Amino acid sequence: MEIDAAPLRADRRAVTERDFLVPVHEPMDHVVFRGPVAVRAVLRNEGTRIRADIEAHARCEAPCDRCLQPVPFALDLHYTEGFVTPEQAERDGIEGGETDDGEVRTVVYDHDRIELDSGLRQNLALAQPGKHLCREDCLGLCPRCGKNLNDGPCGCGDRGEPTDPRLLALADAMRRAKEKESE
Ligand SMILES: [Zn+2]
Ligand SMILES: [Zn+2]
Repeated sequence: MEIDAAPLRADRRAVTERDFLVPVHEPMDHVVFRGPVAVRAVLRNEGTRIRADIEAHARCEAPCDRCLQPVPFALDLHYTEGFVTPEQAERDGIEGGETDDGEVRTVVYDHDRIELDSGLRQNLALAQPGKHLCREDCLGLCPRCGKNLNDGPCGCGDRGEPTDPRLLALADAMRRAKEKESE
């Protein structure tokens, strides 16, 4: 997502509105994106900087933390970024290309092009939910036979140890994840 900055800088009252469909090919953690992220960007000249108000809508999918079934969910983001020229950055004491005051990330751009992708990626990563459950009372997988217990009991009962090393590893990982969650 690139925006030509020249018309925005030329006119103090300039407003540019653009819509984008942004594919996200690499998963974030275990989250995959189902289709491109719909982005609406409104940029305006604020005198000392270009302000970009971004709305983004993403459809995602992640495995349930307990039973590993895919859980679809949506993300709706609203955030603001500021863009300044290298000269303005020097005046304002912005070093290293960007600052973040907790509300607005301010990025130095090179006079010609404003680039919105890295901000989108950062905000998509920040907006990810901490847990994914197919339903609040998901019963998870049997640590012994691996059956999805939401589909009914498996018949293992409380006896016996898992024999399949993959299931042992899975049961171990799920126990650790649960411990982490309750910390
Ligand atoms: Zn589940
Ligand atoms: Zn079982």
